Amino acid sequence: MPEHAGEALGQGHSTLAERLSAVQAAVEDACRAAGRDPSGVDLIPVTKFHGPELVAALADLGVRRFAESRHPEARDKIESLAEREGLEWHFVGQIQTKKARQIAQYVDAVHSIDRPGLVDALSTIERELPLPVFVQVNMTPDPARGGVQPDELDALVEHVLSTPALELKGLMCVAPLGAEPRASFAELRELSSRIQSTATSARALSMGMSNDFREAIENGATHLRIGAAITGKRPDRT
Ligand SMILES: *Cc1c(COP(=O)(O)O)cnc(C)c1O
Repeated sequence: MPEHAGEALGQGHSTLAERLSAVQAAVEDACRAAGRDPSGVDLIPVTKFHGPELVAALADLGVRRFAESRHPEARDKIESLAEREGLEWHFVGQIQTKKARQIAQYVDAVHSIDRPGLVDALSTIERELPLPVFVQVNMTPDPARGGVQPDELDALVEHVLSTPALELKGLMCVAPLGAEPRASFAELRELSSRIQSTATSARALSMGMSNDFREAIENGATHLRIGAAITGKRPDRT
């Protein structure tokens, strides 16, 4: 988590409510600058490392959609918030094959589909409606970073499309650290147009975090996953 994430938005000694509204205002500004309607961009606070109290406080401020990236932390948090109705949970972290079905039981969407084995593991989940998913693309040559390599994307997309338990919403990426994020976001957008020749309704682009959401919005992001700029510093873990 980059240290300057929140500072750019004046996080210094701010409250959660101040940080949330600063990010919301910055998202709207970036939409306006890009000539986009802010209603086409979902802001999803990422609450990993933070307790259920922080989620509850954000829910009191009107937030309904949250993202988590680690199992079982996510499961425990979501369970302890079960009495709060109408919250929607997006899983954005890497998923071990053997945990996939369990994770699918407590989330409403998965942004990190990155390999055929994971699709197979999810193919037998039982839900009323298919699970909304995004295919994550790795923007680096490093396989440890998560995501499918661009040259394997079409095959993975086909695999998801032929799995009735899943509904492909679009693509997801994390811009590589230390590089200009615009290049990655532009590339994901191009890959998105390419897959739409077969996956016609998979138009969503999950990209943009605390430090690069403006660039993501410029390049067509529809789902922003923003942690530190909203939640503040990660709490000390003892
Ligand atoms: C933590 C996380 C984010 C949010 O990152 P910030 O820099 O805190 O905004 C977004 N996406 C994924 C996959 C994450 O793990």
